Amino acid sequence: MTARARHTGTARELSETCYFCARGVLEERRVTVDFRWGEKLTIIHNVPATVCNECGERYYDASVVEQMEALAVSGPTQAEVRVPVATLPA
Ligand SMILES: [Zn+2]
Repeated sequence: MTARARHTGTARELSETCYFCARGVLEERRVTVDFRWGEKLTIIHNVPATVCNECGERYYDASVVEQMEALAVSGPTQAEVRVPVATLPA
């Protein structure tokens, strides 16, 4: 859950100005989300989000987060992709 700590904004917290950077303007968009649930990563397309045009911060409605969690936990999914894994040297 900690990885998503920045994405806990709700509609009640939104205004015309970005809650995160306080400079950008928020726009309604459909986005692709790399959604992590524990160790599992699910790529979810067509997610309705409110996006800052300055810093790119995304806000999701609580109901949208619930839908993404349900998809990540039990699907249905359409495809699987292999992704490279790397570690920066110490
Ligand atoms: Zn912003």
